[in-house]
Amino acid sequence: MYLEHVKGDTWCIITDFCRIPFYKLDKKNIVMMDTGLRDPMDGGILDLLKKSDLKVSHILTTHAHIDHVGNHAILKKEHGARVYMTLFDAAVTGSPLCLKSYMYGSSYKFILEHADSMLCKTDELILQGQKNIIIEGLSFEILNLPGHAPEHLGFVTPDGVAYIADLLMTEHVLRSVRIPHITCWEEDLKSKRYICNTQYPAYIMAHNGICDSIDSLVKENIEVIEEKIKVVEDFLCDYMTMDEIVARGIKEFGVKNDTGWKLNTAYVNIRTFLEHLLDSKRVINVAENGVTRYIKI
Ligand SMILES: [Zn+2]
Repeated sequence: MYLEHVKGDTWCIITDFCRIPFYKLDKKNIVMMDTGLRDPMDGGILDLLKKSDLKVSHILTTHAHIDHVGNHAILKKEHGARVYMTLFDAAVTGSPLCLKSYMYGSSYKFILEHADSMLCKTDELILQGQKNIIIEGLSFEILNLPGHAPEHLGFVTPDGVAYIADLLMTEHVLRSVRIPHITCWEEDLKSKRYICNTQYPAYIMAHNGICDSIDSLVKENIEVIEEKIKVVEDFLCDYMTMDEIVARGIKEFGVKNDTGWKLNTAYVNIRTFLEHLLDSKRVINVAENGVTRYIKI
């Protein structure tokens, strides 16, 4: 884990898994954009910040996923950071029961055991349609990029560097992810096309890279996801149930399902692909003796 300079006062923390951008307000205080997975007992982001003599005064949140909000609560407690989130994400992370409502495929105790790092009290709400956040007189532009998550955002630092979080994956990550998570493919596609029409000097992706031009990467991301949706469409046989489709999907995509968390994640991700096939009228569902079954059109 190390620090990397991007442009002006914009930097990144580089971990094995992700890239966490931050903006230096002065020599010590920084605005962090997301906080990664919760630190392990030894080492991690908090240790690196301490060694670098940096204090997180503000946290801007792109979306409430476990690998983006894992150190929010500890940074609030130890650095006094003020947390900014959308109304939706503030509600989701506000209590274990709200979190359970969001991750409705998981039981309450499962949430308490596996997702408690997501719990955090928000200090400042980011409202729908809000254009920017002003911190100490500096403007951080807000990019509305829904689809991967319900209110997925990006932020542009005062240096003009765009952090687009999980809107796009780098080529390397695209090849390694078996089933990308997308809450709504239609909205995600609109966001991917929108970002193509922007021109920032650099784009930071949480997983895991920086580039100065994103057109070809957007195209590649769209192609890979369309291919994976097509895999589901191709293996779907008439009158399959959701459980049968998920089980087949896990096999087809080679998903590791040795833990409850991985299995739940695979279930949610395959189901969203199926929802896209329903929404685009390539598949219909019928109720039969109390069981929902899916039929290709
Ligand atoms: Zn995410």
